[in-house]
Amino acid sequence: MIIGIDDTDSPYGGCTTYLLTRIIEESGLDLIGFPRLVRLNPNVAYCTRGNAALSATLGHGRGKPSVIGRLGSADLESYPEGEDSGDMLKLMSLAEEMVMAYREDDPNTNPGIVVTRERLPGSLYRKAVSSFVSREEVEEILRQYSAAYTVMGNGRGLIGASAAVSWPEERCTYELISYSHPYAEIDRAVKTKISISVEETGFTFDSYDAESGRSCMFPASRTPVVFGIRGRSWRDLLDLKRKRIDPEGLTEERFVVFRTNQATDDHIIGDPENILEGHSYAISGFITSDPWVIPGGHYFAWMEGRPGRVKLAAFEPTKGFRNTFRNLRPGDFVTAYGSFNSGSLHLEKLEIISTSVLYRRQNPLCSRCRVRAENRGRSFFKCPSCGTRYDLPEYVRIGRNVDPGRYDVPSGSRRHLTKPFYLSRD
Ligand code: ATP
Repeated sequence: MIIGIDDTDSPYGGCTTYLLTRIIEESGLDLIGFPRLVRLNPNVAYCTRGNAALSATLGHGRGKPSVIGRLGSADLESYPEGEDSGDMLKLMSLAEEMVMAYREDDPNTNPGIVVTRERLPGSLYRKAVSSFVSREEVEEILRQYSAAYTVMGNGRGLIGASAAVSWPEERCTYELISYSHPYAEIDRAVKTKISISVEETGFTFDSYDAESGRSCMFPASRTPVVFGIRGRSWRDLLDLKRKRIDPEGLTEERFVVFRTNQATDDHIIGDPENILEGHSYAISGFITSDPWVIPGGHYFAWMEGRPGRVKLAAFEPTKGFRNTFRNLRPGDFVTAYGSFNSGSLHLEKLEIISTSVLYRRQNPLCSRCRVRAENRGRSFFKCPSCGTRYDLPEYVRIGRNVDPGRYDVPSGSRRHLTKPFYLSRD
């Protein structure tokens, strides 16, 4: 059986990932594969943080299990395969009970729970990660697949819960999340020390933002999450935790490795013909304006690509990335990645494929006197000293402050789904 849950938390706390670990624990069933943390369209207006939804396959495990976490004092084992045994309605009522117990009493928290025997179609995931899905479409699919489902509040959570179940895992990374319920305060210096130590191993990404000195692996707000470390190998994450984090003695009640679609670029639609609000794209084309800045340090520039003229935006939180952006010039050929919102493409990363060669026009130098001729009209220059006439100006090549290359925004301002270029190298 596959369970999906979403929208059980609010901006003030709670965490759907924690709730899933509690459901796994209480179900009395084996975990087959990894619990899945699935990020959906980051442009959905009502999402409070990272638009995360969760799912897990539960049943009777077969094969040799691997330890992928700890729940209280017991290891959490994951089986490579399993039989689809278990009572769907029993699992549903357990999940309902748990959601009721943990859900935040907030009007913007609208839980949805799905239990199904069959994985829902990958097309649902692809639409939910890159576009918008209606509750009606989802309910139609759930009926076709004879899935059981429950909604609370306005039931919006059903969309995410179903999309999480439908994720086909074409690309994946892992996140090891550690929990302490209730929340335990950690000293800032300890957070920084751990984040730097973890990041320098090269086995994780987005744990520490060196540019701002921010420890990205620790949550900014009060949640049951102690930390989350992200990587491409779940074994490396477990190893890293054991060697670099456990010796620090942080309060921890449980931890679990999730398989995720983070850092996969799954939300990006490549080479679009048209662009729509709330969708994310990779668009190639020429820069057609000098960049300009508005109060607050937000930079913009125009580009011309397949969909036509597109306004690019590098906002203040992208910090040093703006230094690259503001040095773009007309004629530079780029691929811009980002979400199209309020009329501009909010850059998540940028590849500069080639830079244009720029020249400055200036008055010619008199070959006899070595002084600059004066401009006396269109194509008419005259030496102020000897009076020699020149018809053509000089063109001097201007040095560029930006090189072709791949530029990421800093970790602290990166979207969960964005794949940093440095992960694409191998
Ligand atoms: P989290 O805090 O867990 O990172 P969040 O608070 O940012 O996530 P949710 O609480 O999951 O976001 O709320 C997002 C809501 O949007 C959910 O109800 C989900 O079902 C819905 N949703 C997600 N993706 C889509 C989509 N593509 N189209 C329409 N609704 C969506």
